[in-house]
Amino acid sequence: MIDTDVLVIGAGPTGLFSVHQLGIIGLKSEVVDNLDKIGGQCIELYPDKPIYDIPAIPECTGEELTKNLIEQIKPFKTNFHLSDRVEEVKKERSKWLVKTSKGKEFKVSSIIIAGGVGSFEPRKFQLKEIEKFEGKEIFYSVKDKNIFKNKTISIFGGGDSALDWAIELSTNSKIYLIHRRDEFRGAQASVDKVKELSKQGKIEILTQYQLNSIEGDSKIKSINIKHDNGNIKKIETNYILGFFGLIMKLGPIVNWGLNLDKKHIPVNTENFETNQKGIFAIGDICIYPGKLKLILSGFHEGALAARGCFKYARPDEKLRFEFTTTSKNVQSRLGIKKK
Ligand SMILES: Cc1cc2nc3c(=O)[nH]c(=O)nc-3n(C[C@H](O)[C@H](O)[C@H](O)COP(=O)(O)OP(=O)(O)OC[C@H]3O[C@@H](n4cnc5c(N)ncnc54)[C@H](O)[C@@H]3O)c2cc1C
Repeated sequence: MIDTDVLVIGAGPTGLFSVHQLGIIGLKSEVVDNLDKIGGQCIELYPDKPIYDIPAIPECTGEELTKNLIEQIKPFKTNFHLSDRVEEVKKERSKWLVKTSKGKEFKVSSIIIAGGVGSFEPRKFQLKEIEKFEGKEIFYSVKDKNIFKNKTISIFGGGDSALDWAIELSTNSKIYLIHRRDEFRGAQASVDKVKELSKQGKIEILTQYQLNSIEGDSKIKSINIKHDNGNIKKIETNYILGFFGLIMKLGPIVNWGLNLDKKHIPVNTENFETNQKGIFAIGDICIYPGKLKLILSGFHEGALAARGCFKYARPDEKLRFEFTTTSKNVQSRLGIKKK
């Protein structure tokens, strides 16, 4: 059981900045995110695209913004629990007990939900027999590429992830790149590279095919793929990788006793608390009159929610307003040495 002041759900830009705002007022936090990396939409949806409306930063990419936010919270040595999803939230006396899909448990005085548009989940194959192989020989992301060494891998998809992994894994594995359309959607340089590797016999490209069935009991033996013209082709394969993009689901948040307005959580604008005392919601997931789904709004919401968390974590203390420029307390929390 991890006992801390605040659990932040979501490692997108607003969750990250709320960690900073909690840290400078002396509160400890842990962060859980469903994705395998930090950064939310900025990293998952537009890492290379420039953002032009972050105050005082004329231009930065989604990845640069994320890197800077991570740098800014370094002094707080925050633990991130990635590839894990908050499933259950329940009240026990004055504390909130939280459970994740990997079985981690947290005991906290407040929760900040910075869940964006909900948890991103991979779009999956629509075959019944998929389930028994999922997580063993069928994957929607690559966590450890070493398991694919000297194996045969069937990669499905036509976007950047499918192309990039086909290129990367072709160095020491046999690769089939299978796409339901004739054209690939990924970056032209990757499409060209895949075609070149296909000429060298390192990747076999099969277009206008979809997965039709899987053969094998405890392990995958082979797959049958079906062409648009109805023809079936059998391929012996060890692993299947599917890269069909992500879907966004509000997920378990709907079960936590929170008021919901369509897919958003209504909050007050004084401290962004929800209808549940001690649970706050910030960023894209919250809703209030005049809400703008922008990163800069999420930063402001995180600052006020952090102060809202203080009274639950330190009920006997009064929070003093302090500037980072002049407060010795804040500067020592940030590890700033006297000049
Ligand atoms: C293409 C594009 C361009 C954009 N350009 C701009 C721009 O120029 N300027 C701007 O201000 N904004 C822009 N935005 C919007 C901006 O990215 C969002 O406003 C911002 O990402 C919201 O941040 P967030 O932290 O609230 O949520 P997100 O970034 O969505 O992060 C939420 C995180 O919570 C996680 N999560 C959700 N539920 C759970 C759960 N139960 N357990 C664990 N984890 C969970 C998700 O996996 C996700 O990582 C753009 C968005 C897109 C898609």
